[in-house]
Amino acid sequence: MSLIVHKYGGTSMGSTERISNVAKRVAKWARAGHQMVVVPSAMSGETNRLLALAKELAPSKLTDAYNRELDMLAATGEQASSALLAIALQAQGLESVSYAGWQVPIRTNSAYTKARIESIDDKKVRADLEAGRVVIVTGFQGLDESGNITTLGRGGSDTSAVAVAAAMKADECLIYTDVDGVYTTDPRVVPDARRLHTVSFEEMLEMASMGSKVLQIRSVEFAGKYKVKLRVLSSFTPWDIAINEEAKSGTLITFEEDENMEQAIVSGIAFTRDETKISVLGVPDKPGIAYQILGAVADANIEVDMIIQNISKDGKTDFSFTVNHGDYARAMDLLKTVVVPKLGAQEVVGDTKICKVSIVGIGMRSHVGVASTMFRVLAEEGINIQMISTSEIKTSVVIDEKYMELAVKALHKAFGLDQAPA
Ligand code: ASP
Ligand code: MG
Repeated sequence: MSLIVHKYGGTSMGSTERISNVAKRVAKWARAGHQMVVVPSAMSGETNRLLALAKELAPSKLTDAYNRELDMLAATGEQASSALLAIALQAQGLESVSYAGWQVPIRTNSAYTKARIESIDDKKVRADLEAGRVVIVTGFQGLDESGNITTLGRGGSDTSAVAVAAAMKADECLIYTDVDGVYTTDPRVVPDARRLHTVSFEEMLEMASMGSKVLQIRSVEFAGKYKVKLRVLSSFTPWDIAINEEAKSGTLITFEEDENMEQAIVSGIAFTRDETKISVLGVPDKPGIAYQILGAVADANIEVDMIIQNISKDGKTDFSFTVNHGDYARAMDLLKTVVVPKLGAQEVVGDTKICKVSIVGIGMRSHVGVASTMFRVLAEEGINIQMISTSEIKTSVVIDEKYMELAVKALHKAFGLDQAPA
C-alpha cells in the first residue's frame, strides 16, 4: 500500500461531470489499496471570476490594502471544489472528507496573495487515512500566524499538493492537468515538440522559471528540496485505464541521471515574451555604477534578470538589463527621474519588443560547444543576439521578438528534439 497525492487543476475540476470523473479515478486508486490525499484547484475560471468581482467594487485600483480580503475571497474557490469532490467520492461509495487549509492546518507566512507555506500538520489527515477515508485538502490556501486566510499566488495549488506530499512523505505526487506532460518546447509553436518521459528537477526549474506554465515554479523548488517524486500527467485519459499504465504516463520529474534518463544534451527550448530591455547609455565608467543603477532598481522591488555592461569608450560605458513587462514603466521612470540625473548618464532607452529564448539541459554540464551550436543556428537564420547569459545547464539569449518562433523552431530541430531519443 502506498500513500499517493493527486492534484487536479481547474480544467480537470471544470464541471460537475468532470468532478465526477475525478472521483471515479480517485476511487479506482483507493480501491486498489492506496491511501489517497487529493488537492484540487478551484473550478476553471472561478478564481478569475472572484477577483473580477473585487475589481468591480474597487474600480480605481486594487492596492495592497485589499490583499487580505482578496485572499479571503479567492480561497473560497478551492473550498467549493474540495467539498464537491468529497461529495462525488461519497456518491461513489467511498468515505471522504474535505478540509480547508486552516482546518489542516497548512501554516503560511502573512504575505497575502503570495504566501509561503511554513509547516503542515499531518495528524488529522493521517488519522482519516488510517480510518480508510479519502482526504481532500484545498489547494492554494493556508493560515497565517494571526489566523488569517492566505493564498499562495496564482497556480499555487501545485505547491499545496507538493507540500502536502512532502509533509506526509507520500510515495508519489501526481499532478493531473490538461496537458499530458512536459514537452521539449511549446507544441503550439513547434508542432513536432515531443513529450519528455523524464525531465530532471533542475531542468524543470529552469523551464518553469522561463514561463513554461505546466507547474508553478515554487512547487518545483519544493519538490527539489524535499525530494518529492513528482509526475505531470493528463486528467483526460479515460478514468478507468489500468493503474500501472496510468502510473507511467506523463512526465516524471527525476533527481538523478538514472538509466531511464533520456540521453539528450539539450532537453528543451524555453522562451518568454515577458521581458523587456532597458539600456542606460553613456554612463561614466567608474566603480559603483552597477551598484547605483541596479541597487536603486532592486530597492524599488523590481527584479532584474539578464545584465550586460559594454566595454568603455572615452571613460563612458553602456549598461543594459532586462526586467519583466509589468515592471517596465516603473523601472524606466525611476531611471529617468532619479538614477540617470544622479549618475550623469546620457540617456535611458527601453525596448519592449524583445524575447528570451533558452536551451536547457543537464547534459550541457558535460558537453562543450553546446552554446556555440546555439549561436551558429541563430546566425544561420540571420537572427541578431542582443544579450547572452549562461548557467551550468542553460544558455539564454535575448533577441528581437519577431524572430521568436523562427529561433525556437530552428533550435528545436538543430538539437534533434523532434527526434525520439535512441
Ligand atoms: N485557483 C488558483 C488559481 O487559479 C490556484 C490554482 O489553480 O492553482 O490560480
Ligand atoms: Mg496550474
